[in-house]
Amino acid sequence: MVKLEAITFDLDDTLWDNGGVMQRTETGHYAWLDEALADWLAAHDEAHDKEARPTDERGRFAERFPLEAFTNRRLHLAGEHPLRRGDFTWLRRRALAELLGEYGLAAEHAEHWAMQAMERFMALRHEVTPHAEVEVLLETLGTRYKLASITNGNVDVTRLALGRHFPVIIAAGELLAPKPDARPFLAALARLGAVPSRALHVGDSWADDALPARRLGMQAAWIGPDDRSLPPGIHRLDHVRELPELITWLVRRR
Ligand SMILES: [Mg+2]
Repeated sequence: MVKLEAITFDLDDTLWDNGGVMQRTETGHYAWLDEALADWLAAHDEAHDKEARPTDERGRFAERFPLEAFTNRRLHLAGEHPLRRGDFTWLRRRALAELLGEYGLAAEHAEHWAMQAMERFMALRHEVTPHAEVEVLLETLGTRYKLASITNGNVDVTRLALGRHFPVIIAAGELLAPKPDARPFLAALARLGAVPSRALHVGDSWADDALPARRLGMQAAWIGPDDRSLPPGIHRLDHVRELPELITWLVRRR
């Protein structure tokens, strides 16, 4: 029997399907930047600002630096700054500012447009649709257990309605210690005032959720395919909606 006091949740692909969100966010914010920048430069050209070459001469930003160039720049930066490898927001802003600088913008304008693009990115990033069962699930679990969210991603859960269910929110990337590092798990449990042996972590990644939680002595609910044998303490779910059943079984089991 497990004496359960706390439950920690991964977010992306655990409480909602994230694939479509990331796709829309990635292409959407880049296209927005390309468009907004072209408009701004056109206005700039008219004012004969010495910084700007005519737009047709410099070409469109996204033509000179297609999305792939941006992706490669981020990977390169992550390699150069290993401590920042989980801080996706920093990596994105820095990569954009670099590309915008190479495109010919003055440093302050490159920074400005990188910030604007990131605001757009974050707005699109938060257009997530939690699974239909999640609201009631968290509401119910929150009355009995201490809840925390732990994400490597850059969703700010306080921007979502379901954020109110989490008294403790850990942005692991920004801690500079993304999962599977033990620190985000330990930070969440410390802030909840719970010990690992009385806590359950719920997530979709075998390597970043299930294994590190289990190594710490937490129970782990892994949302994944039925393609491997599970060590004791890791329990497989098809979907987060099956969590109440697992909890009932865990706390009653003898
Ligand atoms: Mg996930």
